[in-house]
Amino acid sequence: MKEKDACWECGVKMINKKVDYSLYGIRIGKFPAFVCQKCGETYFSEETSKKMTEITKKEGLWGLGAKTKIGQAGSTLDIRLNKRIIDFMQLKRGGEVNIYPESKNKLIIEV
Ligand SMILES: [Zn+2]
Repeated sequence: MKEKDACWECGVKMINKKVDYSLYGIRIGKFPAFVCQKCGETYFSEETSKKMTEITKKEGLWGLGAKTKIGQAGSTLDIRLNKRIIDFMQLKRGGEVNIYPESKNKLIIEV
């Protein structure tokens, strides 16, 4: 059995540290975490995770990541965005975005 404060990835003892946490580019705050000195893996306690979830919900950042289906319009395909993303990114019909693949399985949309 591994030590309680050992990294799950490499088994190296982790140090207690306050780390900045941001979500979708918005700074949520500094939180106590265990950080592996070898691989940099960061772990938050269950209590800290709960607190972080509460804050992200309050900031309206919860559930922005979502699954969406690809639709078809003529010979082109549509990817639908949900209301939460539309509101968060302040997207408007007729607005322009830049779209490009970062890899074969990741698409970037820049507003
Ligand atoms: Zn590690």
